Amino acid sequence: MVLNVFPKRTIISMSEHSQQAMNRLNEAGLRPTRQRLALAELLIRTAPRHVTAEELYHEASLAGIHVSLATIYNTLHQFTQAGLMGEVVVGSGQSYFDTTAHAHHHFFDKSTGEIFDVPDDAVDIGKVPQAPAGKVIERVDVVIRIRNATPEELADGKAVSAG
Ligand SMILES: [Zn+2]
Repeated sequence: MVLNVFPKRTIISMSEHSQQAMNRLNEAGLRPTRQRLALAELLIRTAPRHVTAEELYHEASLAGIHVSLATIYNTLHQFTQAGLMGEVVVGSGQSYFDTTAHAHHHFFDKSTGEIFDVPDDAVDIGKVPQAPAGKVIERVDVVIRIRNATPEELADGKAVSAG
């Protein structure tokens, strides 16, 4: 009896995700091709999170979505340009795609390569310059770069002990 419950719920949630994927693509004005739908569904199912193109490529292969890494990149950039996702550039050629599209702030851990959200009210931006002539500020997002504290920094009380 109990065994019946799980597959049923899985099927329902899968179709919910594909319906959501279809709606999001339509709202964004992107033609719902089979590849876009499959990738959007995979992203919706695993949101919220930050993912690199390489990670998504790997997950897509495991999920039986056979597309090239170039297609993954193109699709992620299309989703980003359409406002469905955010992109956080942490270094040259190093981007994370964010299932949370609205502007928000991040910690980027240089020691582990991890990126995670900072609560909106934890950063107070007191002053922003006027945009240069002919330009407007589209968004302000902060990447706070962190690394493992050295033993000296821990001893000096510059870092809170992780243990
Ligand atoms: Zn984020």
